[in-house]
Amino acid sequence: MRVTVDYDLCDSTGVCNSFAPEVFELDDEDLLHVRVPEPGAELWPAVEEAARACPKLAILLPGDRP
Ligand code: SF4
Repeated sequence: MRVTVDYDLCDSTGVCNSFAPEVFELDDEDLLHVRVPEPGAELWPAVEEAARACPKLAILLPGDRP
């Protein structure tokens, strides 16, 4: 399953990084990168928590709008 970030919405606050640092990271310029676009099942609970916690609702998971 693929995780996608809508960069038009994302403001790189890094909330997602605090929930799933294996998947989301901020680079040296504080821009968000998805390190693991297709995380394994063991990471999905954290990814789903990150998506729910994202203040911009910028994290798109399978079944979300395109
Ligand atoms: S929590 Fe949402 S807005 Fe903040 S960096 Fe992550 S994807 Fe972007």
